[in-house]
Amino acid sequence: MKTIGLIGGMSWESTAEYYRILNERTRDRLGGLHSARCVVYSVDFAEIERLQVQGRWAEAGTVLAEAARSLEAAGADLLLICTNTMHKVADMVAAAVSVPLLHLADATADAVRASGLRRVGLLGTAFTMEQDFYRGRLEQAGLDVRIPERDGRALVHRVIYEELCVGVVRDDSRAAFQRVIKDLVAHGAEGVILGCTEIELLIGPQDSPVPIFPTARLHAEAAVADALSERSPSAARARSGPRRR
Ligand code: GLU
Repeated sequence: MKTIGLIGGMSWESTAEYYRILNERTRDRLGGLHSARCVVYSVDFAEIERLQVQGRWAEAGTVLAEAARSLEAAGADLLLICTNTMHKVADMVAAAVSVPLLHLADATADAVRASGLRRVGLLGTAFTMEQDFYRGRLEQAGLDVRIPERDGRALVHRVIYEELCVGVVRDDSRAAFQRVIKDLVAHGAEGVILGCTEIELLIGPQDSPVPIFPTARLHAEAAVADALSERSPSAARARSGPRRR
C-alpha cells in the first residue's frame, strides 16, 4: 500500500472528510483492521484565504509547495491538494516534489465520464467557477461545463466561506443551493459537480434532481484506488501533467 500525502486544512472541515473516506474505503477494499497509510499537512486556512482574497497566489503556492516537500520527506508516495480552489497553484506544487500529484479535476472528470454524462453544472468558490484553471481542465477532458448566474455564484461563494468552512450547515442555505441546482438543470445540466470540498457537507444526492459529483469523495476514492493498485508511479505521475483528450 502506498502512503497518501494530504495537503489539507482548506478547510479542515473537508480534510476531516478526506481522512474518514480514505480509511473507510481502504477498510472496504482490504477488510479487517486495514486503514489508509497517510500523512496530513494541515495549514492555517486564515493565512491562505487572505492570500486568495489579495490575489497573492504565488505566495499561497509557496506555502503549499513547502507542505508538499514536507509530505514527501515524511514518506508520501502520492499527494492530494484537498481543495478545488487551490488547484490554481497545482503546477507549483507538482514541480516542488518528485512524487505524483493526483489532480482533483482529473479524478472528477473521470467520474463524470464514467457516468456517461457530459454536460455538467459546476458549483464552487468564485475562483473555481469563474477562472480557467479548473473549468478549463474539465473542458479539456471533454466536459461541457455550466456555471450559475452571477447571483447564484455569489450565494454559493458566500455560503462556502461564511458557513461551510466554519462548520455551519443551514437548512435555508441547502434550500438556496437546491434553487441554484434547479436553475443549472433548467439550463441543460445533466449532472452537478460539487466543486468545493465542503459542499458535500450540505448537499447530498437526495437534494438534487440530477446526479451529483462530490469532489472530496471522488478525490479520496481515486487516491485509495491509486494507493492499492499495482499501477507504476510513472503512470500515476503522468496524470498530474496536462490533460489530453
Ligand atoms: N475547500 C474549498 C474548495 O474545494 C474552498 C476552500 C478554499 O478556498 O480552498 O475549493
